[in-house]
Amino acid sequence: TDQPTVLLNDGHTIPQLGLGVWQAGQDVAVAAVRKALEVGYRHVDTAAVYGNEREVGEGMRASGVARGDIFLTTKLWNDAQGHDNALRAFDASLERLGVDYVDLYLIHWPMPRLGTYVETWKALIELKNSGRARSIGVSNFNAEHLERIIGETGVVPALNQVELHPHFQQRALRAFHAEHAIATQSWSPLGQGRLLADPAIAVVARKHGRTPAQTIIRWHLDNGLIAIPKSVTPARIEENFAVFDFTLDAEDIAAIGALDSAQGRIGSDPLTAH
Ligand code: NAD
Repeated sequence: TDQPTVLLNDGHTIPQLGLGVWQAGQDVAVAAVRKALEVGYRHVDTAAVYGNEREVGEGMRASGVARGDIFLTTKLWNDAQGHDNALRAFDASLERLGVDYVDLYLIHWPMPRLGTYVETWKALIELKNSGRARSIGVSNFNAEHLERIIGETGVVPALNQVELHPHFQQRALRAFHAEHAIATQSWSPLGQGRLLADPAIAVVARKHGRTPAQTIIRWHLDNGLIAIPKSVTPARIEENFAVFDFTLDAEDIAAIGALDSAQGRIGSDPLTAH
């Protein structure tokens, strides 16, 4: 396929657009993953806590797309932090997914009050060395958390998956990532759907003859971000992938850039979450 990829700091590549499956229930997740892979997606983002790893694996197998052609991410939930717990949780995820490796394994949240994310990161380094997690990274880490795991292990995460969309653009964190060759992955890239009604997005969308969702996804791609929009609706899964035949211009980038807000966060704050 000729879809865009991002080169990670460990030499692996990740498709820049993937399917997110948070809140994709077990009843619909198999069909959503299968549909996405049939449409051309080659990247799926799940997590132990989403409760649908079995269905994601089933959808992958039902699609007929070869395992080696799919970039599969899952995440370690907060209750499994700590070295030994992390190794056990990883085995359980592989078992549920029905695969013998994942392309990317992430620490879901830093949970600073637990004080265990450094030893958890050491377990992920072992998993990377074993080859069963081809790449390892983190999610919802801030610069301080990143500096700590890098400083204590010397291993830089391949990416950090954080809330990021036009209303919450994470410019300072993205600059930190760029300095350390950490890729940025956008969760809730459509602001959980809330950004689709933004009038400024509508202006850019009309100009290109695209939908608001396509316009926002294109904004992520044009900014070098890795985006994982979620849908279980077949027509929307297709719509969200039909974004490789246009680009935004400087005027569009400026208009959407102006939507950034310090109050734009929709999800949990990593410092206080869970
Ligand atoms: P999102 O920004 O992807 O928005 C999804 C919602 O937008 C859908 O439920 C639907 O209502 C709507 N939508 C999607 N496509 C549409 C279209 N074409 N037209 C109209 N409406 C459309 O929200 P999300 O699910 O929160 O985030 C995406 C993925 O990011 C998740 O599924 C998950 O994989 C990941 N995520 C990770 C974390 C984390 O802590 N690491 C947190 C939240 C989400």
